[in-house]
Parts: sequence; structure tokens; C-alpha cells
Amino acid sequence: MTEATITTATKIVQRPATQKTWDVDADICVAGAGISGVSAAIEAARLGRRVVLVDSLPALGGQAVNSIIGTFCGMFHNGPDRYQFTYGIADEILNDLGASGDLYYLVGPGWTTVYYDEVALGRWIEEAVREAGIELVLGANVRGASFENRRIGELDISTRYGDVRVRADGFVDASGDAVLAWLAGLPCREAADQPIFGTQMVVLENVYMDKAPSRPELAAVLSEKASDYGVVREDGLAFFFEGKDTVALNMTHMETPLEPLAASQMGLEGRAQTRNAVEFLKAEFPDCFKDASVRAYGFPGIRQTRWIKGDYQLTVEDVRSARSFDDAVARTAWGLEIHNNKHRLYWEGFDKGPHVHQVPLSAMTSPDADNLVAAGRCIDGDVAALSSVRVMGPCMAMGAAAAQALDLAGSGSIHQIDMAALKERLHDNLERKDYRDEASP
Ligand SMILES: Cc1cc2nc3c(=O)[nH]c(=O)nc-3n(C[C@H](O)[C@H](O)[C@H](O)COP(=O)(O)OP(=O)(O)OC[C@H]3O[C@@H](n4cnc5c(N)ncnc54)[C@H](O)[C@@H]3O)c2cc1C
Repeated sequence: MTEATITTATKIVQRPATQKTWDVDADICVAGAGISGVSAAIEAARLGRRVVLVDSLPALGGQAVNSIIGTFCGMFHNGPDRYQFTYGIADEILNDLGASGDLYYLVGPGWTTVYYDEVALGRWIEEAVREAGIELVLGANVRGASFENRRIGELDISTRYGDVRVRADGFVDASGDAVLAWLAGLPCREAADQPIFGTQMVVLENVYMDKAPSRPELAAVLSEKASDYGVVREDGLAFFFEGKDTVALNMTHMETPLEPLAASQMGLEGRAQTRNAVEFLKAEFPDCFKDASVRAYGFPGIRQTRWIKGDYQLTVEDVRSARSFDDAVARTAWGLEIHNNKHRLYWEGFDKGPHVHQVPLSAMTSPDADNLVAAGRCIDGDVAALSSVRVMGPCMAMGAAAAQALDLAGSGSIHQIDMAALKERLHDNLERKDYRDEASP
């Protein structure tokens, strides 16, 4: 047995005149450790690349884990032919969290969504990143990006422990807000004439699941009585996790401005709205919620803020018409889910027959940059098209595509890679059709 002892000595330390900067060299740098960035980093590391993954949170998993998003959408074809669209880490997560009882498949009339336990997902990501040997710089805000001769050269990063410079051949912008493109001075897009609302997610425990209202029942009462309780959003959702006594509430709508002071206030606005939503549930559905209490608040959930201006902008017509692209790298069938109204979202599903729409690589690259690929919710689409492809199934596929494309580009240009070779590498995410028992009623 080791014996515990104490020492009492202290030493004087003082800020030196010149501050140390930590330098990191990598083949591929991924900015943003959300589900798209994690997918990109793991895929690139498994290709043998030296990868550095940077995030301003002191944790991995971005919104998927830390905002407690709660469900994977866009991962399966709509009914009745519910095959899986995305493989790679998506497949591993479904296998591993399924085996540990941390998933619940909600097979809806058209779509299939997969509820996950966010703690289990967080641990899965941490172990996968560790095993892949990825260099991490967490709690690290990217505040500058050098840009010369069409290439990002290095990132200037501040952490609470000092500054870090990261140099790499290729960069993945998985920041959600197109931070790398923005800091490099590249043109970016925002919604022109409407806010896209975010949501403060909250998890309640001690919920009586056998008394849970059905989706239509909750929708009807909420629609009628939301304003009686000061609930702003009249079409909120509750994700009842069967087999547990918890429910994740997606019942608020607050703006998510790209401005430091207002952005800081929005979290409080979201929590205030949450309090009203909980009061509503307890009063209107007491059998289910009378003993419920808040187990966890996520960080404010941000849907669409600023994104890259790509070589191509995915349009709502592309999505509706299920257009095929020669440079397709990801697919989904998730509907248009536009949170542009404080009270209600706009939903247009594609579940009346076979429908698969695609994400082209050209919506992930900038015409002005040769070593930058965006992935996730900051790729180029119009407001409606982006609302569909920013869900987590296609986000993981985009992350994998970004890694493979930058691997092929090496120190050359992303615009000159062998597209046939890329599509061969992404075969599973474009062509494979596996079925899962849980997703096939
Ligand atoms: C409330 C809400 C509910 C949703 N519901 C669903 C759902 O049920 N199912 C589904 O599939 N999708 C859902 N979505 C969409 C989906 O969750 C997101 O679009 C997806 O998680 C985005 O992943 P990402 O990796 O692109 O970005 P994020 O998860 O946002 O990750 C971006 C990362 O970049 C980091 N970052 C940003 N700026 C900097 C900087 N300057 N320096 C360093 N790091 C930086 C951030 O800290 C963050 O970790 C929902 C979204 C919201 C907001």
C-alpha cells in the first residue's frame, strides 16, 4: 500500500517577459470537435495522418454531447425501405451504444431517429479519439488563421494556459460557424432576412414513462395552451427514452446571434423558456411529470449561424428533387427543418416514397482556398437545404469525406483530387444498404 504524506513548501512564480507559444505541426488540423469534426479527425488518423483536433470547449463531442441534442437524425432511409445511409464511426456508434443499451430507435411513420445517451456518446468519442492517437488542443479558441497563396498556413489559438500555433497541410472547418473561412478572410454566408432559432435542451428525470403523452397528444395541448404558460415555442418535442425514466425536451426557441454580449444572454433566455415548459408539462400531464426534475441542461443549442460560400451552394430544389451529383460525398433523406419562426418550425418530410438527396464535395470547399474543407453545419446551402443536411447522420458522412479528400490532396489542391478515387473510398456512405433489426419494424 502507498503511504500518503504531505509537503508544505511553495515557490514564487511570475509571468515571464516573453510568453511561450506552443507549436504543433500536423498533416490535418480539424477545428471543431462536434460530431463532424470527430468523424473527420478519427477517419484521418486511421489513414495514418498526424491529426490535431482543436475545440474551444474543454471537452469533445460539440453539440452532440454538450448541448444534449439527444437523437441521431438522417441516418436511415425513410420507411418502408429503412436502410442505413452512413457508416464509418456512425456504424461503430450504433453497434457499441446499441450493445450497451444506450440507444433507443424511434421508428416513426416515415423517418427513423435514434435516441442516444449523451454520457455514453461522450465516453465513446473520448476513447475512440484516444485510440486513434489524435493530438488534442481543448479549451482552445481559434482566433486567427493565416491565409496566403490560396492556403491556410497556421492557426493562432488562445487557451487559458497560453497560446498555441498549429500548422498543417490541410484544414477541416467543422466549427459550425465557419470560423476558419471567416478568419482567413474568405466570403461566408448568413441567413439574409430571418433569424434561425436555436434551442436550449434539457433532460428531466423521474418521469413516469407509462403515462407519457403521445406525440400528437402533446402537440395538441401545447399548441392550444403554450401561451398560458409563457411557452414561446408552440410545437416543442419531448424525446421519451424508452427503458429509462428520462426525457429530453426540445421545447424552446431563442436567437443565436454571432455577437459576444447578446450570445451570452441567449443561454439565460433559453433556460427561462425551459422553466416555463417544465411548468406546462407538470400542470398539463401530472401523471407523467409530477415528480420530474431537471437532471441536466445542455449548452445552448445552435442550428445555423454562418457558413462558407462554397464552390457550389446546395439548393432547396436539389434537395426536393433528390438531385444526383458527380461529386456526391454524403446522402440523407431528412426533411427540411427550418427553425425560422419563434413559435413553430417549418417541416417538409420526404417520406411519401423513395427519396435520397446528396451532399456534393463542392458545397464543402471554397473556390478561393486549396486546403480547406468544411464539414457539418457550416457547409454551403441555402437556408432550407442546409436545414436538412446539417443533422448528425450526414454530418458524420461529411466529416469522413473531408478527411478522405484532404488525405488525397496531401500538400496539393483539394480542387485537383481524383474524384473517382474519393468516391471509391466513400462507397459505403454513398451506396451501401444495410438494414438494422431495430430500425425495421
Ligand atoms: C437544439 C438542437 C436540436 C437538434 N436536434 C437534432 C436531432 O435531434 N438530430 C440530429 O441529427 N441533429 C439535430 N440537430 C442538428 C445537429 O445537432 C447539429 O447540426 C450538429 O450536431 C452539428 O455538428 P457540427 O459538428 O457541425 O457542429 P457542432 O456540434 O456545433 O461543433 C462545432 C464545434 O466547434 C467549436 N468551435 C466553434 N468556434 C470555435 C473556435 N473559434 N475555436 C475553436 N473551436 C470552435 C465549438 O465549440 C463546437 O464544439 C439539432 C441542433 C440543435 C441546435
